[in-house]
Amino acid sequence: MSSNDSGFSNTCIYCPSIGPFTAEHVIPAGLGGDDRRFMLRGMVCKRCNTTIFSPLEREFLRKTPAALGRIFLQPEGRRRGKTSNPPKLEARSKVLIAPEGYPVEIELGSRAQPIVLPQMVLIGERDGQTTGSDEMLLREYVESARTLLAATVTCVRNEPVEGVRSLLATTYTWGPDGYERGETRSVSEPPLQSIWNIILEPNEDGSEPSSRARMFRRENGQIVLRVTEKLGVERALTFFRKVLEQSNFEVMAARDIQNPPVRFDMSFQLDVIGRLIAKIGINLLAYLVGSDYVKHPEFQKIKRAILTGDPEIQLLPTEQKASIANIFSGLPITQHGFIIVAKPGPFRTCSLAVVTRLYGSLIEMISLGENLPWPDLPNHTFFAVDYQMHRIERYEMLDFVRAFPFRFTARGDAANEASAI
Ligand SMILES: [Zn+2]
Repeated sequence: MSSNDSGFSNTCIYCPSIGPFTAEHVIPAGLGGDDRRFMLRGMVCKRCNTTIFSPLEREFLRKTPAALGRIFLQPEGRRRGKTSNPPKLEARSKVLIAPEGYPVEIELGSRAQPIVLPQMVLIGERDGQTTGSDEMLLREYVESARTLLAATVTCVRNEPVEGVRSLLATTYTWGPDGYERGETRSVSEPPLQSIWNIILEPNEDGSEPSSRARMFRRENGQIVLRVTEKLGVERALTFFRKVLEQSNFEVMAARDIQNPPVRFDMSFQLDVIGRLIAKIGINLLAYLVGSDYVKHPEFQKIKRAILTGDPEIQLLPTEQKASIANIFSGLPITQHGFIIVAKPGPFRTCSLAVVTRLYGSLIEMISLGENLPWPDLPNHTFFAVDYQMHRIERYEMLDFVRAFPFRFTARGDAANEASAI
């Protein structure tokens, strides 16, 4: 069986289009996958390629934790400088309008120099940005936010009674659908481990502001959540916890960062992660088994999710990431890993998933489909992508383990620690 299906297929593997077709990198070039031996030819139509996949890859590389890995680890395609609109200061509050158009919390330093506080900002429905002037403070912020967003969170707000300060503490408990509000009690001082809560006012015309929630760290170390009443504390906490589950600052700790940018940004758009990794999974299957296989109707759901974002692709909860982290623990952080895994189902069917580690830290396992006919998978379903050399290697499982022996070291501990949140 040829693993590189060069036979001409009459429709695109993602949509009913009959062409024209363009060559598609099995693993996106922007991720260092531009190895000419790993291309899909005559399988992906030009429209899917240019109107959906190119923007999706751009978003992924800019608006997910991958952006962080890319900035620090990938020498080419480095993103620098935001020379467009200079930031402008809103006079009334200590908020600065970022060049992208949303407000960020600041303090004023010497000579009224604005210092962007370390923070996460929710923009629109589920876009956001992690930002701060100082990279070390941002790391501290992420760590304290992770500690605070535990199984239960206490938020404290001031609701003055006749002008006298009155503190109310509310507990929120992590459940299957995110944080749920528990009981509220009156306290004299904020509990030690708590998040200070401030209402974010709507616009003057009553509409929701462009940023509906911000969680930041004041210079005294206090973590503050500013959120609109309409969005609610529960949803904001849930969003920020999910973002933290997707962020990994371990990689940065290992780097000697030269010339850090003045403002350190990390964007995130969670749904893009799942879509892009799922697309790589389908591409890998088409590459390994051929285009006809991935046209099986049971792949319709995941393809629709890849093309449209609906239904939303579920990402792996943090607590399940430790074992995958171990599989890739021997792989240098200069390489991405991808594995196609098949699990037997009833009546000789199987379910398929793609497992990955990107930029040494972004770990995911995404289901590609269930009730599928057992594919004629070759043994070599492990891929290592050297994104600095732009080279992809295929391995059998045992060869992969021999080439990159598992290491149960600090990284594994870090993964366990993260899963304890
Ligand atoms: Zn197409």
